[in-house]
Amino acid sequence: MAQRRRLGERIDQAVMAAVNAGQWIMGPQVREFEQKLAAFGGAKHALSCANGTDALALPLMAWGVGPGDAVFCPSFTFTATAEAVCWTGASPVFVDILPDTYNLDPKALEAAVQAILADGKLKPVAVIAVDLFGQPADYPAISEVARRHGMKLISDSAQGFGCTLDGKHPLHWADVTTTSFFPAKPLGCYGDGGAVLTNDARMAELIDSLRIHGKAVAGDGDVASFGHDPKYLNTRIGMNSRLDTIQAAILLEKLAIFEGDIALRNAAADRYAAGLAGSVTVPAMIAGGTSVWAQYTVETDGREALLAGLKAAGVPTAVYYPVPLHRQVAYRDYPAPGGLPVTDAKAERVFSLPISADIEPGAQAYVIETVRGLAKA
Ligand SMILES: *Cc1c(COP(=O)(O)O)cnc(C)c1O
Repeated sequence: MAQRRRLGERIDQAVMAAVNAGQWIMGPQVREFEQKLAAFGGAKHALSCANGTDALALPLMAWGVGPGDAVFCPSFTFTATAEAVCWTGASPVFVDILPDTYNLDPKALEAAVQAILADGKLKPVAVIAVDLFGQPADYPAISEVARRHGMKLISDSAQGFGCTLDGKHPLHWADVTTTSFFPAKPLGCYGDGGAVLTNDARMAELIDSLRIHGKAVAGDGDVASFGHDPKYLNTRIGMNSRLDTIQAAILLEKLAIFEGDIALRNAAADRYAAGLAGSVTVPAMIAGGTSVWAQYTVETDGREALLAGLKAAGVPTAVYYPVPLHRQVAYRDYPAPGGLPVTDAKAERVFSLPISADIEPGAQAYVIETVRGLAKA
């Protein structure tokens, strides 16, 4: 809401312009936003869609991923990462994380691929790396494993859109990057939204088709001679997954200040790191990485007592994620080769403190003082 106040009139005007122009679905703001989003993310193409979960499903559908296929992903992530895999009929295969960054462990990925190959029931086809809490996964190492086994690579950047590794966006290594504009994400809108970024022109075309009910696209051949709206020439089974024009209008305003917001989030993270060091384990960054700080996640022993103390002091906290996916009823029958000891250990120890581009240094000082007091007790 602080950001809403900061943007003020600009959002009001953008929303009313979209409402009054009447092109509420796929209006001109959607295309304009896609172009600007692609430019920001260093991609040739950006295709918006209804949410970040569909953004994961769309490329999997475009590749024809389905029953008998294995898609490797972390268990220490939001449900959507694995859920989209299950929609296609493929099997998620859960992989352990690195203990310092909480992102996919490339060595554990290699071991999981070997275990699935040895088992012989599933075919490794894709990897979904997650930029958890805002920082990039180890893409050089993960993409090496993916390429060597002929697998596609998705960067699920719902929390990390805008993050970089050695100055490059995850798409430098991945076949597609997906993101979410859910309000709590670093680049959020005022409802649901998502996008897929890619450098592959045919992939972009297929996603454009799939997000609009499998409509015919230029590469499908017969579309030019059709003579009617290609929406009514259906070449494949798709879905209905579009970003509303109103949300695109809001996102155009938010994207314009996103670089500045990332800097503000980093300044807030620096204040926490300086203030909290020695009381709880503060976040570690991959070498060469920059984060967009979707969450500021720390680690401690005796978490439940500390959380109770923070609650009593009026400091809001959250645990991402208390039950990793391989322990959830919905996912526990999918493979998690070798067990996931790091994931299990972290789920007991992590918690997240409030962070945003608009958080006041004074409010942070109170959080720091409260955590320090409780950690000492
Ligand atoms: C939020 C999130 C998603 C899903 O985004 P929605 O827009 O809520 O569907 C996917 N992956 C991760 C890692 C997320 O945090």
